[in-house]
Amino acid sequence: MKAAVIHDYGAGFDTIKYEDVQTPVPDSGELLIKVHANAVNHCDTDLRKGLFGVASTMPHVMGVDAVGEIVHVGEGVSEFQPGDRVAPHFMLTCGVCRDCIDGRENLCANAEVLGVTVWGGYGEYLKCGQHHVVPIPDGLSWVDAVAGQVPFATAWEALVEVAAIRAGENVLVTAAGGGVGSAGVQIAKLAGARVIAAAGDDGKLERARELGADEVINYRKEHIGEVARALTGGRGVDVCLEMIGGDILVQSIDALAAGARLATIGAHGGERVELDFVEFFRKHITVHGCGRSTKAQVIKVLDLMARGKLKPVVHKTFGLDEAGAAHELMESRNFFGRMVLTR
Ligand SMILES: [Zn+2]
Repeated sequence: MKAAVIHDYGAGFDTIKYEDVQTPVPDSGELLIKVHANAVNHCDTDLRKGLFGVASTMPHVMGVDAVGEIVHVGEGVSEFQPGDRVAPHFMLTCGVCRDCIDGRENLCANAEVLGVTVWGGYGEYLKCGQHHVVPIPDGLSWVDAVAGQVPFATAWEALVEVAAIRAGENVLVTAAGGGVGSAGVQIAKLAGARVIAAAGDDGKLERARELGADEVINYRKEHIGEVARALTGGRGVDVCLEMIGGDILVQSIDALAAGARLATIGAHGGERVELDFVEFFRKHITVHGCGRSTKAQVIKVLDLMARGKLKPVVHKTFGLDEAGAAHELMESRNFFGRMVLTR
């Protein structure tokens, strides 16, 4: 098959070679999926540069999120058949550990990671176990399905399952211009919350308003805590989805109301911060680490996308042979929505 392959880590975009590799062969219980689209993920660019923190065997086919059609099933596959449209979940969980059987498969310590520890979505085909995929609803396009599944499921896990947002609450979303952030804006709005979007770029904040944000904060010009309190009659926000870390995390904690919940997903803006824990117990603040969805959550968001309740945001589509150009655009940070590689 053709695939976008790396033979070593590298900062250059020409590290990715478009070439022929062995088509995967499904083992017992596995599916062979003809990939129709995959989305470029920050995990992919980190992995290409050797910054992911988990070693991949070379040559390697990246690709954390992909969608496609089953073309062959291995021995013992009972739940799926050729022709089924499916989305593999990036966590290839073991299915038998304590966390998996407890319904918390996103904590599975034995999971392989699609496109990281095994070949992923940057090829014409991929293989995975039958319990690693979810069905894609009829009527949802390949591009929309792949653009939305990971960001919406990630934001859903954080906001709905963990932070338990409720109608009428004030919800702050930082990095509202990013994939998970813009998904978080839509999910918080769908849940009936009043959404305050924060980003460092007025153009991205305007797009966040179009997706449903009620208020916006440009944190390059304004202090998140001060503006959030001003927008909430001095009370602060009930929930925050925080994805940046560093000083933005500190400002976001300052923005929290008494009893608030904060879900933290990323820390590219600073992994170590100084916090005053007096504020945590005085205000009964809860902080949750989040970031990995379950397949059940992916099924929910795919259904909401198919019904038009959540709208995936696609910045640009590329061919599989243009993966390097898609990475270049990703690293320019000059985009809103996802880059999708189609076949
Ligand atoms: Zn497990």
